[in-house]
Amino acid sequence: MKKIITCIGIRPDIIRLSQIIKKLDKYFENILVDSGQHYDYNLNKIFYDQLGVRIPEYNLDIKSGTHATQVARLMIEFEKVLLHLNPEFVIVLGDNNSSLGFAIATSKLNIPLVHIEAGMRSKNWFMPEEKNRKIIDHLADMNLCYLPEHKENLIREGLNPRRCWVIGNPILEVVNAVETTFKQDKPFYLVTCHRAENTEMKENLETILIFLGELYERKNVEIKFILMPKTKNMMEKYGLKFPKGINPIPPQGFIEFLGMEKEAQLVLTDSGTVVEECAILGTSCMTIRESTERIDLIELGVNVLTGMDNNQMLDSAELALSRKVEPVSHYGKNISNKICNILIGNSLNFYKNYER
Ligand code: UDP
Repeated sequence: MKKIITCIGIRPDIIRLSQIIKKLDKYFENILVDSGQHYDYNLNKIFYDQLGVRIPEYNLDIKSGTHATQVARLMIEFEKVLLHLNPEFVIVLGDNNSSLGFAIATSKLNIPLVHIEAGMRSKNWFMPEEKNRKIIDHLADMNLCYLPEHKENLIREGLNPRRCWVIGNPILEVVNAVETTFKQDKPFYLVTCHRAENTEMKENLETILIFLGELYERKNVEIKFILMPKTKNMMEKYGLKFPKGINPIPPQGFIEFLGMEKEAQLVLTDSGTVVEECAILGTSCMTIRESTERIDLIELGVNVLTGMDNNQMLDSAELALSRKVEPVSHYGKNISNKICNILIGNSLNFYKNYER
């Protein structure tokens, strides 16, 4: 069996890769490497347990830090693993700082790099994720895209179309594989908010909290706010408090959270994965951001993009609550199988040439 490495950066990577890893294990000697960027039990280990993913052979223990610290630490630690294992190829997913570190270390050693979730673009250059994904896509030898428009983005940036594949969105299989149990009779809204653009600028975080307070005043419906350590720290730093009606709760396991997404009357989020899950479940959802790389969901009418304007946020919430969302059907099927087939086929004759 060919030896490969599958890299896991943060929480959503464990979730998205959970079904893919099980398939890859059948065809490859698949070594798992977790960056250690997320290290609390409820941001890391709980997802391995709940989704039946085996514990990685390596944990690089990079923890939190500035952008440069995280990426640099990861590159130094991952290079050691690469030199020791000399894998046939390396798989990275997404656009977080760990994904970037994994990708640079791999590419610098001329080891073939596969990027899952390639070609997404928000066109917002101030987002750290946009910078990361663009660099990773351009380093990758194989770019696996969720949708045709993501492949088109890459071609527009000059990448060779023969290095880009459309595979569908692996989150679909994950959502379908999980049975949820959460039940609550009283209606509620569900919020996640921890992206840098929303938490690292006091103004934006304050606008969001004021809006949530007004939404509660208007609707009198409980708002459950998943409070990530980063958002909590920033609120303390800025001296911001939760308005009345907003109920902060700690990060949940996937089974619990997916159940909440199903039951909520409205989900308000800045997460990339949460909007996709709501679209699959048919739950009303709004994106609290200025830009999104999930433009397909706006165009299909299953998500609303609010911007940072208070009135527009309230209007968006009314709109999202008033319409019935049909579950989307454009994410493909048998996605992890497709990924395996593409990797098996190409790994026999890998793109080791220099030509781009
Ligand atoms: N999630 C979870 N528990 C929570 C909040 C989110 O299991 O309390 C899951 C959610 O279902 C989704 C993923 O975590 O699959 C989203 O993670 P995040 O928002 O951190 O990352 P992004 O999607 O923005 O990359």
